[in-house]
Amino acid sequence: MNYYIHIPFCRNKCGYCAFYSEPAPTPLQIGAFLDELERRLAATDLDEAQAPETIYLGGGTPSLLSCRELERLFQLLGDQLRPGDATEISMEANPETLTREKIALIRTFVNRLSVGVQSFRAELRKTLERDCTQGALENALEMVRAADFPHWNCDLIYAIPGQTRNDWESDLLRAAVSGADHISCYNLTAEEGARLGATWQISEEDGAEWWRLTGELLGAHGVNRYEVSNYSRPGAECRHNCNVWRGGLLRGFGPAAASFDGRRRYREPESLTAFLAGAPPEVDEIQPEARLNEIFAVNLRTRAGWTPELWRQVPHADAWQERLRKVDGIRAQIPPEWIVFSEERITLSDSGMLFWDSIAELLL
Ligand code: SF4
Repeated sequence: MNYYIHIPFCRNKCGYCAFYSEPAPTPLQIGAFLDELERRLAATDLDEAQAPETIYLGGGTPSLLSCRELERLFQLLGDQLRPGDATEISMEANPETLTREKIALIRTFVNRLSVGVQSFRAELRKTLERDCTQGALENALEMVRAADFPHWNCDLIYAIPGQTRNDWESDLLRAAVSGADHISCYNLTAEEGARLGATWQISEEDGAEWWRLTGELLGAHGVNRYEVSNYSRPGAECRHNCNVWRGGLLRGFGPAAASFDGRRRYREPESLTAFLAGAPPEVDEIQPEARLNEIFAVNLRTRAGWTPELWRQVPHADAWQERLRKVDGIRAQIPPEWIVFSEERITLSDSGMLFWDSIAELLL
C-alpha cells in the first residue's frame, strides 16, 4: 500500500500554484489538522496487507510545520502506519522553512527529501513568488547535504517568464552537481486556478528544445530521464510515484488527497474546513476498461513503458494480448519512430514522449 498525506499549509501562495493549501496558517489550524488526521488514521482499518511500501508527505509545505508539530506528525504516522525499514518515506520541503534542528528531526523519520528549489536564480524565484533568499537556499542545500539523506530530490521549473536558455542550462548544471540523486523538471504551464503561467508561455518548439537539452545535460551527469519530467541516478527513482502511476493502491489523507482502491478513485474535498468537519471524499466510479486504459497511457510517459510482467502487476489487469491489440489498432496513426512495439515491450522513444498527449488521446 502507498500512503499520501497532504499537509495543506504554505507560508504564502506562489503565483503559479494550483495545489490546494491555506497560506499563513495559525498554530491552532495546524493543531486542528493534526487532531483530525490522527482521528482518521486511527479510524482506518490498516491490517497487515496494507503495510506501507511508501509514504509521501506532500502539500502544501510539510516543512512549514514547527519541530513540535513535525514530531507529533511523525509519531502518529509511525504508530498508525507502522513503516518498516524498507518503506520509502518522502517529504516535500521548501528551503526557506528548513533549520538545522528541523532537518535533523526530519532525518529521523524520512529517507527521501524533496527540496523545492525551482530555480537557483533569485530573480526567477521572485517571479514565481517563491519567498526564498539566495542565502536561505544555499544554506538549506548545505544542511541537506550534511544530513546525508539516503535519497533527495531537487525540484526545478523551466519556462519561467524572463528565463533564458542559458539560465535554464545553468540551473540544470547546479542541480546535477548538487548531490541530489533525483531531479524533477516541470515546464511552467497555465494551471487552472493559478495566477502566473496563464500570462506567459514559451513556444512549443522552444519547450521541446529545452526538454531535449534537459535530458542531454542531466544524462551527461548520470541523472537519467525515467519519466517525462523526472530524472534520477540508477535506483533512485521515486518509488511512490512509480507505484501510483502503475495503478498501485493508494490511500490518501488530508484535504485534496486522492486514493485508489484498485477499482475506484476517491478525492477528499479541497477544503480544510470540510476536512475538519469530517466531509466524505468524492468517489469516481470510472469503468474498469477506462481505468486500465488510463493506467496504460500514463506509463507511456515512463522510460520503462510496459512489459507483460509490469502489466500483470496492475490490479485487475486484462490480458497483455489485449493491450497489444489496442496499441496495434492505433499504430498506423503514429509515426513509427515514436514507438517501440513488440510482443515483449511497448515504450515511447524520446520523440514519442514529447507527443505523449496525442498518443494518449488515441488510446483513451
Ligand atoms: S507551489 Fe508549493 S509552496 Fe507554493 S503555494 Fe503551491 S504548494 Fe505552496
